[in-house]
Amino acid sequence: MDLSYTPEELAFQREVRAWLKRNVPKHDRRDNPVEGAPDKERIARAKAWQRKVHAAGYVAMGWPTEYGGQGADVMRQTIVNEEMVRARAPGIIGMMGIQMVGPTLIAHGTEEQRRQYLPKILEADEIWCQGYSEPGSGSDLASLRTRAEIVGDEFVVNGQKIWTSGAQYADRMFCLVRTDPDAPKHRGISYILIDMKSPGITVRPLVQMTGDPGFNEVFFEDVRVPRANLVGQLNDGWTVANATLFHERNMLASTTRTQQLFQNLLRLARSRKRNGRAATDDPLVRQRLADLAIRVETMKLEAFRQLTDALRKRPPGINASVNKLVTCELNHQLARSALEILGDYGWLGKKDARAADEGTWPNDYMFALGLIIGGGTAQVQKNIIAERGLGMPREPRPS
Ligand SMILES: Cc1cc2nc3c(=O)[nH]c(=O)nc-3n(C[C@H](O)[C@H](O)[C@H](O)COP(=O)(O)OP(=O)(O)OC[C@H]3O[C@@H](n4cnc5c(N)ncnc54)[C@H](O)[C@@H]3O)c2cc1C
Repeated sequence: MDLSYTPEELAFQREVRAWLKRNVPKHDRRDNPVEGAPDKERIARAKAWQRKVHAAGYVAMGWPTEYGGQGADVMRQTIVNEEMVRARAPGIIGMMGIQMVGPTLIAHGTEEQRRQYLPKILEADEIWCQGYSEPGSGSDLASLRTRAEIVGDEFVVNGQKIWTSGAQYADRMFCLVRTDPDAPKHRGISYILIDMKSPGITVRPLVQMTGDPGFNEVFFEDVRVPRANLVGQLNDGWTVANATLFHERNMLASTTRTQQLFQNLLRLARSRKRNGRAATDDPLVRQRLADLAIRVETMKLEAFRQLTDALRKRPPGINASVNKLVTCELNHQLARSALEILGDYGWLGKKDARAADEGTWPNDYMFALGLIIGGGTAQVQKNIIAERGLGMPREPRPS
C-alpha cells in the first residue's frame, strides 16, 4: 500500500495551503459554528467564511459539476480537510446540507429539488437541520410518531421532534414523518423537506450541559408542506433516511477534528507546568500522550481503509460505523487528558480570564460526549459492527 500523495496531489496541497495562509481569519481560529452559542453575528461570520471557501472551489468538491461541485475524487476533499485542520481554520456551518441532505438529494431527489436546494446549500444561503429524533424514538428511530396526512397537494404535519441541532437558525429541515400509521413501522415513513418559516412551527431551544443551546425541541401544528417536497417514494422514507444516516456517520467519523484536538493537546502540554516542570517532562503525561498519539495514528490508518473503499467505488461496509465510534470516543479522551493536565484550572470556562485556550477544553469535553450519542450511539454502532461486520447473531428486536 502506498500512502504517499502523487505529484499532482502534492501540488494541489501546496495550492490549498497557500490559499488558507492568505484567507483564514485570525480571530475565528478553531471556531466551530455548530458548537457554542448561535448568536447572529457568529452565524453571519460563519456563513461568510463558507461562501469564501466555496468561491475558492473547496466545498463539496465531489458533487457533480452541474450541481456546483467538481466531480473531484475523494482525495482532493481529503487534502482540503487536512489542510483546514493544519491551518486551524474555522468550521463550515452548512455541514448538514453539504454532507447529509445534499448527497441524499443527488441520489434520491427530483431534478427540481436538486436545482432548487443544492446551490443554496453551497452558498450558505440556506442552512439545514435534521428532524429525525422524537421523544421515545432515538435509537429505535422507526417508531417515530410525527404524522403527515395528505390533504390535496399538501402534507399536513403534526407532532414533535427533539434534539434538533441548529433548528433555531436553520432555514429548512429534512424530516421523517409517518404517512401510513397502519403499515409495519419501517414502511409507513416518508422523507420530506420543510421550510422552517412555515406557520405552525415552534422551535424551543434546549440548553446542553455545555451551557449553550445547541439543539432544540421542534413542534408542528398543522404545518402545510407541498407534496413536491417529498424525497423518494411515499412511505419509502426509510430507504432515503438510511442514505442520509450513512452520510451522517461519514461526517461524524471525520478524523480531522480528532487530529485538530490532538494538536491542541500537544500544544497545551508543551506550554503548561506540572509539579514544577513542563507537563511534557512528566512521565505520566508523556505516557498518556504517547498512547493517544498511537491511537490517533491508528485511527488515521483505519480511515484510509474507508478512503480506499470510496476511491475504488466499493460498497462502504461498516467502516463508517467503526470510524464514527473510534473518533468520537477518542475526541472525548483527548479533551479529558487536557483537563487532567490543567488540573483545577481545567474547568474554568470561556468567560474566565484565567482559563487556558480561551476556556475551550471543558466545552470540547462535554461536546465530545454528545457526539458519542448523536448520529447513533456508541452501543448502536457496536451492534452494527458486530452484526454486519463480524456476522454475529442479531439481537432480538421488538417488531
Ligand atoms: C449532540 C447531539 C446532537 C443531536 N442532533 C440531532 C439532530 O440534529 N437531529 C436529530 O434528529 N437527532 C439528533 N440527536 C439525537 C440522537 O440521534 C439521539 O440522541 C440518539 O439517536 C439516541 O437516541 P436517544 O437519545 O433517544 O437514546 P435511546 O435510544 O433511548 O438510548 C438510550 C441508551 O440505550 C442504548 N440503546 C438503545 N438501543 C440499544 C440497542 N439496541 N442495543 C444496545 N444499546 C441500546 C443507547 O446506546 C443509549 O445508551 C442529537 C443528539 C446529540 C447528543
